[in-house]
Amino acid sequence: MILLNKIFIFIFGTLIGSFLNVLIYRIPRRISIIKPNSFCPNCHRPIRWYENIPILSFIMLRGRCAGCRKRISIHYPLVELITGLLLFYSYLHYQLSIQFFFYSFFFCSLIVISGIDFSHQVIPDFISIPGIVLGILLQILTKNFLSGIIGLGFGGGLILLIRVFGGYVYKKEVMGLGDVFLTAMIGAFIGFPLIIPAIFIASLVGALFGLLYIKATHQTRDVPIPFGPFLGVGGILALLFRSQILSLLFCIGHP
Ligand SMILES: [Zn+2]
Repeated sequence: MILLNKIFIFIFGTLIGSFLNVLIYRIPRRISIIKPNSFCPNCHRPIRWYENIPILSFIMLRGRCAGCRKRISIHYPLVELITGLLLFYSYLHYQLSIQFFFYSFFFCSLIVISGIDFSHQVIPDFISIPGIVLGILLQILTKNFLSGIIGLGFGGGLILLIRVFGGYVYKKEVMGLGDVFLTAMIGAFIGFPLIIPAIFIASLVGALFGLLYIKATHQTRDVPIPFGPFLGVGGILALLFRSQILSLLFCIGHP
């Protein structure tokens, strides 16, 4: 029975992931998220239910629309798989507790924010700002208020500092206000000191991606690369490897 629950949570997660794909596509285009039903973005052909099964439909359709044969982006099954795995992780660690629901929200909102920032270079504040409140609420409920509030202040404060000083030195926007709210939200959810390795991982992965991207596309260094997706990766990885990271930090702190 326990195994059945886990399989169910994973499948449920991939279905949620399918809905997150709808949000990522529709929010920046200001299309209603309820109506119309899913359609191919290329030929606008409605997607039938059996073409809308998470991950499996992509494999069965060999990654192409059944109507116009246009390639379907790999990010659709990827978002479904990642959401399934992250909800599975939440359930494995927290069962159906308060933490399960809060961290599932945390993972889902990071996926949506990252997807929208990646494709449209904008972070929807109407997700990250309520996210800050929910993160602090979680910390109050689990008696970690101090860690959450310091995480929020440290994360948001550091990115705000980079935004102000970077803008002063480079005379252009190096960090958006959206990045400030997003980092504050991640800090509120994962707390202090975990927010430090989260930002570190985000910067490292972001810099690596930026270098590879500039090399592969022969762009100049001025090409804007959204930071939100990397903050999302940093926040998720810091939470997944929390115990390993904390034991490493404390080993260094107390030899
Ligand atoms: Zn099509």
